[in-house]
Amino acid sequence: MLTVEDILHAIEDGGYRATGSRRRLLETLAARGEGFTAEELVGEVRGVGRATVYRTIRLLLRQGLLCKLTLQDGAPRYSLSRVGHHHHVVCVRCGAVRDFRQSVIERILKDLEVGEGSAVVGHRIEVYVVCPGCREAGVATSPTAATG
Ligand SMILES: [Zn+2]
Ligand SMILES: [Zn+2]
Ligand SMILES: [Zn+2]
Repeated sequence: MLTVEDILHAIEDGGYRATGSRRRLLETLAARGEGFTAEELVGEVRGVGRATVYRTIRLLLRQGLLCKLTLQDGAPRYSLSRVGHHHHVVCVRCGAVRDFRQSVIERILKDLEVGEGSAVVGHRIEVYVVCPGCREAGVATSPTAATG
């Protein structure tokens, strides 16, 4: 489980400065698990300019310290990545997010043929589901219930 301190160290290890603004931004992110849109962060973190917020988001994404969640409607949401590299399973009905990792996917993507001269340096995967709670609420949409 990564703490704000761990993430500040990782920022410094990456050759960037762990400024007071960045610390405040991280502490804000840490306080709300379900994350923020970039604009919500700008409004929430007092005294930190919009440009700094966006720059820090990009930096954290590049270092794998931030989760970016692209929902089907609305702006992407960001939350601290607390477990290292992972992916998300998102319920399309209620928006519930679960983390997952699967080594077989990592191996496939690492060895993916992406064209001559290119090297894979990262990836992002989101899997969209209807969660058990939402399936119960609407049984007709369950794929296993469909008989054709
Ligand atoms: Zn995540
Ligand atoms: Zn759901
Ligand atoms: Zn992966």
